[in-house]
Amino acid sequence: MKVDAARSALNAVNPDVAIVAVHKRLEDFSAVASADVVLDCTDNFATRHAINRACVKHGKPLVSGAAIRFDAQLMVFDLRKKDAACYACLFPEDAQVEEVQCSTMGVFAPLTGVIGAMQAMEAIKLLAGIGESLNGKLQVFDAKNAEWRSVRVKRDPACSVCGASR
Ligand SMILES: [Zn+2]
Repeated sequence: MKVDAARSALNAVNPDVAIVAVHKRLEDFSAVASADVVLDCTDNFATRHAINRACVKHGKPLVSGAAIRFDAQLMVFDLRKKDAACYACLFPEDAQVEEVQCSTMGVFAPLTGVIGAMQAMEAIKLLAGIGESLNGKLQVFDAKNAEWRSVRVKRDPACSVCGASR
């Protein structure tokens, strides 16, 4: 299974780290309640929104990354902070978006490595309280032209997910 492969690979690098592999489909994301930081590495909007809702509910920092073809996005939603935007402030749940998944559209392989490493970096920074995170700063990377853009994202007071709860 994927989780066993991940655990083996991580223990090969860090043998002293205790890794709890959860062998089940996370239906309600209640496990988020006991997390210190959450990394969203999934490839569809339904799961992304479910993870975001759980992070808003439990006030957990969310490190979100996505890559498709030659384009990638990276952002931190530090939901420990009252004024932090959530994923739905950026991509409303009821928005009509065309679902494009890397499994069907393909992704430039090194790009997932770049974004994954940056997600790990932001997660460690959040856990250790180092520097300034990408909270509220959407990073958009165009790999074909080697261009990064940074877009400020503010919390939407009318957001259907975090607007009423805080
Ligand atoms: Zn929101």
